[in-house]
Amino acid sequence: MNRPGGTPSPVLGVRDAARRVATSVVAEHADTVDREGLWPQQGMQAIGEAGLLGLNVSTEAGGQGQGMLALAVATEELGRVCGSTGLVFGMHCVAAKVIDVRATEEQRRRFLQPIVAGEHVTSLALSEPGTGVHFYLPRATFRPKGDAYVVNGHKGFVTSGGHADSYVTSVVGAHADLDPGTFSCMVVERDAPGATWTHPWDGMGMRGNSSCSLLLEDAEVPQGNLLGSEGDETWYLFEVIAPYFIVAMTGTYLGIAQAALETTIEHLRTRVYDHTGEQLGAADTITHRVGELWATVERTRQLLHHAARLGDANDPGARSALFASKAEVADAAIHVANEAMTLAGGKAYGRNDRLARALRDARAAHVMAPSTDLLKIWLGRSLLDLPLL
Ligand SMILES: Cc1cc2nc3c(=O)[nH]c(=O)nc-3n(C[C@H](O)[C@H](O)[C@H](O)COP(=O)(O)OP(=O)(O)OC[C@H]3O[C@@H](n4cnc5c(N)ncnc54)[C@H](O)[C@@H]3O)c2cc1C
Repeated sequence: MNRPGGTPSPVLGVRDAARRVATSVVAEHADTVDREGLWPQQGMQAIGEAGLLGLNVSTEAGGQGQGMLALAVATEELGRVCGSTGLVFGMHCVAAKVIDVRATEEQRRRFLQPIVAGEHVTSLALSEPGTGVHFYLPRATFRPKGDAYVVNGHKGFVTSGGHADSYVTSVVGAHADLDPGTFSCMVVERDAPGATWTHPWDGMGMRGNSSCSLLLEDAEVPQGNLLGSEGDETWYLFEVIAPYFIVAMTGTYLGIAQAALETTIEHLRTRVYDHTGEQLGAADTITHRVGELWATVERTRQLLHHAARLGDANDPGARSALFASKAEVADAAIHVANEAMTLAGGKAYGRNDRLARALRDARAAHVMAPSTDLLKIWLGRSLLDLPLL
């Protein structure tokens, strides 16, 4: 992130701004968000006030115009303190980016201006119960009716469900052929007629995420909410949705791994045995394990940053690096949080606090689309020049 000549990178400013919000407001509410399953209202408000909601919105639309590296860094800072806030913010940034890339003047005015002003949170409604992790296969349909579209379908696990102001929703034409990846995206507003929220979120982890279901029954969406034009769909999927989606999640899970590592190191420093008078961390087998955990976190951080830089440079190698980064960080976050629980002993097991939360939150990494299984398959396919879908 350092530039020749010593000019600080704008990404460092993003990291500092995210860290300030994380350590002040987000940290204060993280336990309550987790224990009570509350959507992180205060944290998101502070993020908006810090100007971070427009992180990936283009400068033409008034945003910061930052790319994937900045998103990786910001989500890590937030995820380190509260996984749910990292994910809520990350999904907002992906959805805002999807709106931004082909926004009409009207869409800029109605969605991007309030986002940049810190007054509008958006999210992604892609997954459906019927197609699961195969998020590129939506079955929700849309058809024109007057100056609106009528939308029918069922979206599952919608981050910030019922709390965000709008949801970038994937849909197919009512009579479309269902080739994988050929879908359109439209902005569905929270209170759209015909949209109802079901299945309140009570997850094992990411408990502040409010990942509930969105039922669309003859929902009415203004035609001006359709994003891009017909034929943009595959471009959207691989050039915008998948890369930003992967980076937002991976940054968050990296932050969770970092939190588990820090908490363990603190425990190993302060746990002193009566019978030896020595700290637990002094045992060679323990220092060896801590060193390995640090290296696991740092190695995967460097892979994510490398992938994000390639993505920002439109490098053809970005896709494989991004696929690998989410799969590797998912493995790392679960491994590090699990090991941390062992190293921190019964004391950690007996408290459902930061470390236990890290383990519960980290578990979502494998199942959030594109899941670790799918990413490893896609990585192999892209290396072998086979079609991804
Ligand atoms: C905390 C959280 C937040 C989420 N937020 C959002 C959001 O904001 N927006 C959104 O659209 N979605 C979101 N999701 C949904 C997520 O992206 C997945 O769609 C969802 O977790 C899939 O769950 P499922 O039970 O349907 O998985 P299934 O599709 O039933 O898959 C189960 C397992 O089988 C594996 N699998 C499936 N097919 C194959 C295959 N062909 N080969 C090998 N393995 C395979 C998967 O990897 C997975 O591990 C969220 C999920 C969670 C848990």
